[in-house]
Amino acid sequence: MLLNDLRDYIARLLEPDRFRDYCPNGLQVEGKTEVRRIASGVTASQKLLEAATAWKADAILVHHGFFWRNENAAITGTKKRRIAHLLQHDVSLLAYHLPLDAHAELGNNAQLGQLLGFMEHGRFGEQEIAWHGELAQQQTLSQLTGKIHRTLERVPLVIADGDPQIRRIAWCTGAAQGYFEEAVALGVDAFLTGEISEQNVHLAQETGVAFIAAGHHATERYGVHALGNHLAEHCGVEHCFFDLANPV
Ligand SMILES: [Zn+2]
Repeated sequence: MLLNDLRDYIARLLEPDRFRDYCPNGLQVEGKTEVRRIASGVTASQKLLEAATAWKADAILVHHGFFWRNENAAITGTKKRRIAHLLQHDVSLLAYHLPLDAHAELGNNAQLGQLLGFMEHGRFGEQEIAWHGELAQQQTLSQLTGKIHRTLERVPLVIADGDPQIRRIAWCTGAAQGYFEEAVALGVDAFLTGEISEQNVHLAQETGVAFIAAGHHATERYGVHALGNHLAEHCGVEHCFFDLANPV
């Protein structure tokens, strides 16, 4: 598939123009015009770029790309090495941040909810990026966190009082701990995200709403993987997802 057609196809699917984001969404670094092999991963780290070019990828698809708001714009140090690696191999970098969190089927929240048996009732938070709903089946917190551990292959950090019954849940992949207060106001029994901050511990203890920090990387590997598989199915490209473990 032509790179421009691939970029336009993903834009129709994820509608990046609907979002106010912290980074450019879409083609961030341009490589060869024809794309046959797409490598995907959560973050465009040097390790991912090297694994992708060793696999002979023509384009790399990520959730966390380059050029974040407030970062130094100069192309020096690690950023220079990453961009040089892409340009030397003539490989494109396609990055989708909030549009990939939000997509109703392929997005991070949709994919994580499906894996863990969460049914969506609605959205909340800035730009409606976070989801709330209920568990397919009411269970105790320890049953739920056991399932999260087995599914994500990572022990979640859980702040709760005892082992309450959980029915209503709110979730948002990545670093969405700032939405905990809004989740509490929705009347949920538990809130799940990737990362946790110091003040979340107190709010969990004082409200009785359980806070589950299941890992930023661990919760965000599913959207980009699903998007890559979708492209393989609909665009005639080959896709390989690289899961480079990250404890955070
Ligand atoms: Zn993230």
